[in-house]
Amino acid sequence: MSAPYDIVIGLEIHVQLLTQSKLFCGCSTRFGSPPNTQTCPVCIGMPGVMPVMNRRAFELSLRTAVALNCQIATYTKWDRKNYYYPDLPKGYQISQYDLPFSHDGWLDISDPKDKFQPKRVGIIRAHLEEDAGKSMHDEAAGQSDSRIDLNRTGTPLLEIVSQPDMRSALEAKTFLNELKLLLTYLGVSDCNMQEGSLRVDANINLHVHTPDGKVPTPIVEIKNMNSFRAVERALEYEAGRQYQVWQETGRRLGEVPKQTRGWDDQANVTRGQRHKEESSDYRYFPEPDLVPVTVSESQLAEVRAGLGELPAALRTRLEATYGIKPYDSDVLVNQGPPLVDYFVELATLSGDGRLASNWIQQDVLRELNDRQLTIETFPVRPAAFADLLSRVKRGDLDTSRAREVFIDMVSSGRPAEEIIRERGITQVDESELIALCRELLAKNPKILTDIKEGRTKAAGALIGQAKKVNPNVNPSRLLEICLEVAPSL
Ligand SMILES: [Zn+2]
Repeated sequence: MSAPYDIVIGLEIHVQLLTQSKLFCGCSTRFGSPPNTQTCPVCIGMPGVMPVMNRRAFELSLRTAVALNCQIATYTKWDRKNYYYPDLPKGYQISQYDLPFSHDGWLDISDPKDKFQPKRVGIIRAHLEEDAGKSMHDEAAGQSDSRIDLNRTGTPLLEIVSQPDMRSALEAKTFLNELKLLLTYLGVSDCNMQEGSLRVDANINLHVHTPDGKVPTPIVEIKNMNSFRAVERALEYEAGRQYQVWQETGRRLGEVPKQTRGWDDQANVTRGQRHKEESSDYRYFPEPDLVPVTVSESQLAEVRAGLGELPAALRTRLEATYGIKPYDSDVLVNQGPPLVDYFVELATLSGDGRLASNWIQQDVLRELNDRQLTIETFPVRPAAFADLLSRVKRGDLDTSRAREVFIDMVSSGRPAEEIIRERGITQVDESELIALCRELLAKNPKILTDIKEGRTKAAGALIGQAKKVNPNVNPSRLLEICLEVAPSL
């Protein structure tokens, strides 16, 4: 039975751009400095100061908007969004209101595990704004101090607003993963959620199926989610909660104001917060101290030309060139450009993309994780690795022995050939294997009977015994031969 409702999700993402300095002054944007050490009269809102736009921040956001297939405005201006907040000393935030620099784009998402159909998620707009400061409410030891850190005030943020095109928490999480990957490939943000470089708010409501058609429930905005996993869990929880509220109250969209709820990661629930202001409450008006920004066609062409290969195109290319499956190209591309470069070199040198992909996913990623290494510092370089894989392809080494050699290569940094020689790994010839099979089957009458009666899996138990006699035995070849000779015994 299908669910009695559709889930409708739209996302708002704030991305901190990778600039050295703030959006309208020269203060540093470095994370983790002592409070209020990265401020100046401009970003703390002293009277009479003049903001100047950071050109780099604008370039990075333009790059992102173009990659998100947005329409780019040739003329864009700044607005003051007026509201009072303790960590916003100016009393307003410089943002973009009616003329954002980009709008109407899209990002394609798909699930390599086939849990949803590939789809295109619309981007309503992407605009630039400055961040506010941070309030710290210290209620430890009976104190109730509130302190304000303005280091973050004026940091450039790109706000990306999606269409409500997502129909499940998994789709929302996939969209966020794909967006984060795109931002990483573009080099526009470090996307570190712990440091607040990427923040997500989600809008969600239900379209409940009733005999009179689908009825929309009131929209809720969820905040305070500090990982993509938290976003997924918050949305799953909220859909269930909204359905319950619908059953109890029957309230529809428009009958109550839009509600803001915070995600409590410990308790696994969303909790009600203050009511959301309508945009008219902000009293937007044009920022008089900043000149509007114009973008020329030639500037845009330059940005387009400089985008580089983006994740979706890269996946398609890896699949077509190296014959790997969408699931595998997804895993590789998600690891980032340096790992993809490593794969491409290994696949080319070894002449086997699938083998290269399997070894990277199973063995390299595990070693990187266990040894806390990055692919750039990984001791086994593609040329040496390709030599090992070529031996596996030729049948000189079976996979389990090759794995031993590989692990030795990682810890010692020595070439495969040296390790193979030292360990006395040689190929066991066919006649030797046949003799060994006969001997083992004679010693194990129960297994022999099993094989003869069609329970061929029983032969697996012979591998361990064979390895004891000769560690160079190729297990899969041994099994084949045992099955061949068994009927005649
Ligand atoms: Zn400043």
